[in-house]
Amino acid sequence: MSMRPSIMAGMKTIQAFKFRLVPTPEQENLLSRHAGGVRFVWNKALDLQTARLDAGIPLLSYGDLARLLTLWRASEEYGFLALGPVHPQQQTLKNLDRALREALDRTNPKRFPRFKHKGEKDSLRYPDPLQIKLDLATRDPSGRHLLPRIFLPKVGWVKVRVSRPIVGDLRNATVTRKAGRWAVSLQTGTDVPEPTERALPEIGLDLGVVSFATTSSGTRIHPDPEILSAMKRAEDRLRWEQRKLSRKYRKGPKSQNFRRQKIRVARAHERVANMRLDFLHKVSTAIGETQAVVVVEDLKIRNMTKSARGTKESPGRKVRQKAGLNRSLLSRGWGTFLSLLAYKLERRGGRLVRVDPKNTSRTCFFCGHVSVENRPDQTTFRCVSCGHADHADANAAKNILRAGRARSACSPGEPGAFVA
Ligand SMILES: [Zn+2]
Repeated sequence: MSMRPSIMAGMKTIQAFKFRLVPTPEQENLLSRHAGGVRFVWNKALDLQTARLDAGIPLLSYGDLARLLTLWRASEEYGFLALGPVHPQQQTLKNLDRALREALDRTNPKRFPRFKHKGEKDSLRYPDPLQIKLDLATRDPSGRHLLPRIFLPKVGWVKVRVSRPIVGDLRNATVTRKAGRWAVSLQTGTDVPEPTERALPEIGLDLGVVSFATTSSGTRIHPDPEILSAMKRAEDRLRWEQRKLSRKYRKGPKSQNFRRQKIRVARAHERVANMRLDFLHKVSTAIGETQAVVVVEDLKIRNMTKSARGTKESPGRKVRQKAGLNRSLLSRGWGTFLSLLAYKLERRGGRLVRVDPKNTSRTCFFCGHVSVENRPDQTTFRCVSCGHADHADANAAKNILRAGRARSACSPGEPGAFVA
């Protein structure tokens, strides 16, 4: 089975890499102040533009605003702006310009831009990669282990926790603060390699709650027990912090204690999300780099029609308990997983095919007989017509793969369709 490439040569793929920053207290101070400068520029320009709208005068263009910014930075009154990097300040004017134009667009108006408050989505976008330097050397000359660092204008070298390899050429960087923690998101571009015609493997994938995913060749993909229990502990911690938060809210929604607890909840949330994302990255990389075509059920249709799957089809009690535990941990990651997988496949010239989930779990792969009776419990498939037996998820994954092939055979002109 070979595949026609679905991506044109000469294209670039854009990727984002988000890492924690570890600034010193002085650097944190500077970042806060620079973010404050950007916020000030946004608010001041928004104020000017709203006044013009109210007075019925045409808006200033981005060019006008940028010239004003230069004046502000040179003035005595707003000279503090010159202590911060100029590019993020210009970038915020560009963002404002676009936001205003989108808000005033009559055919499809978006929300009118708002004033920004301190500590609310602080961010600094550095649009020019030449202003940023990355130092990934992890050892000093004497062999001591060092954290990688990133050079930010008017801040200097800041330590950064690079948790996965950075691929591609740096295009821009965005520094953000969330729940009191700083992070940097690096956007890179990679040339898509010239696709070659070659035989590539394909699989069907069934997403489940007893196993995270099962392939059509019968491989079951699931987090290691230690990782799963660490995820469970992080979830428990989050729920505990949330209960504490509601108690503190009843005692005084404006209290210092309540505010502190809110930050703890946000951090617990982030921990849970990061653990899940880490797992999803690992699985999607493993599959995305070894397969060319992956067929999955269309989640949008599946969520509408199959929400009762596994309860309606009467699982044993133990299975149901286990599924209940995993459901919250894993099923919430399905959508993200598929976007990651699609992206990782397409990056290498492969593709993700979505098929209608109708009957994939109750159809016998061997004879095609469709019956609820084929599923005596959640993990077993036993065809009541021909006796064919398989793991229920593997049987579903095979049906999914077959549906994907059928779909491609019906539309041979479609890019990426199979060529038998
Ligand atoms: Zn059968």
